[in-house]
Amino acid sequence: MRPTKASVSLSAISENLEITRRLAPQSKIMAVIKANAYGHGVIEVARELQNKVPAFAVAFFDEAVQLRDAGIELPILILQGTTTKADVAEAAAKDFCLMLHSRQQVERVLRASTAAPVSVWIKADTGMHRLGLVESELQDVCESLSASANVQAGMVLCSHLACADELSNPMTRQQIKRTRMLASKYGLDVSLANSAGIIGWPQSHAEWNRPGYMLYGNSPMHSQQGPALIPAMSMESEIISVRQLEAGDGLGYGQTWMASKAAKIGTIPIGYADGYPRHAANGTPVLVNGHRVPLVGRVSMDMLSVDLSGLEHADVGDPVELWGTRLSVNEVALSASTIGYEILAGLTGRVPRSYTN
Ligand SMILES: *Cc1c(COP(=O)(O)O)cnc(C)c1O
Repeated sequence: MRPTKASVSLSAISENLEITRRLAPQSKIMAVIKANAYGHGVIEVARELQNKVPAFAVAFFDEAVQLRDAGIELPILILQGTTTKADVAEAAAKDFCLMLHSRQQVERVLRASTAAPVSVWIKADTGMHRLGLVESELQDVCESLSASANVQAGMVLCSHLACADELSNPMTRQQIKRTRMLASKYGLDVSLANSAGIIGWPQSHAEWNRPGYMLYGNSPMHSQQGPALIPAMSMESEIISVRQLEAGDGLGYGQTWMASKAAKIGTIPIGYADGYPRHAANGTPVLVNGHRVPLVGRVSMDMLSVDLSGLEHADVGDPVELWGTRLSVNEVALSASTIGYEILAGLTGRVPRSYTN
């Protein structure tokens, strides 16, 4: 078997949950486990957290169905709501909570024939401008939903922060103010904070917070500040080949890296078909035997190369960490012009996950 695997610590996720709780002790936590729990394996993560949080959130209906089929019984919020009328009845039957972000979705709930009332959250657009009802629509929407027999009591007003990872951005303060104003006008509970809101903006904490990224042990903040989270995933592999290059030898596709002096090159069996970012630049850090070495040349589909020239004893079989507890996925992401979210969520099914407690 190939030595590459994503080793996931479920207890780290639980510890990060407790850190999240301590940052916002008054708020209920809806654990966001969309996109296969940010690549960590949604069923395993849901089982780990199901007795520790009151609800989960996923992006799409099919993600919620997958959790129910696996026996997960907690309420699940579907962040993008439904696309068909049949979904409404199924949501009521399966105890899914529907986010309503448009008039069409509201109408669908009002007109559905459901055996039981469905739980709904109302999404307000307070500045992100992707989804959400605008202020002028809310009066009517709130009135008709509260009067409908199809809707459970206890609706929540939800909005999403666009810039909470930047502490100097005034946008967040405006979004908090708007959301609170709307919620008090319609007498609704509030949900606003994502991970960045929880870490950086205590004023955004409300009845419900919706952490995702931080549960997996990484901070979304631009600055270094924030709690000491524990990265839950270590992407591990081994050196499978070592060779000596001479000055002037090129390496890999396009020969984009050239040895300027004699160099010792190691090959690692992970590539972009696993989700390792192809745009990782020369110099992206990789840990070999716990030592940082630079990635060199282009990342290929199934392998990548590192410069081992500084490591005299490095050899085939030596352990490699691509990211994890000793090398932040955020740092790797920075070298690949992306964010840690994309790397984690982009891990493909080819990578075996192994779980520890
Ligand atoms: C993904 C998502 C979250 C979680 O965001 P993180 O930055 O991962 O904490 C919260 N709310 C909504 C609406 C989302 O789409």
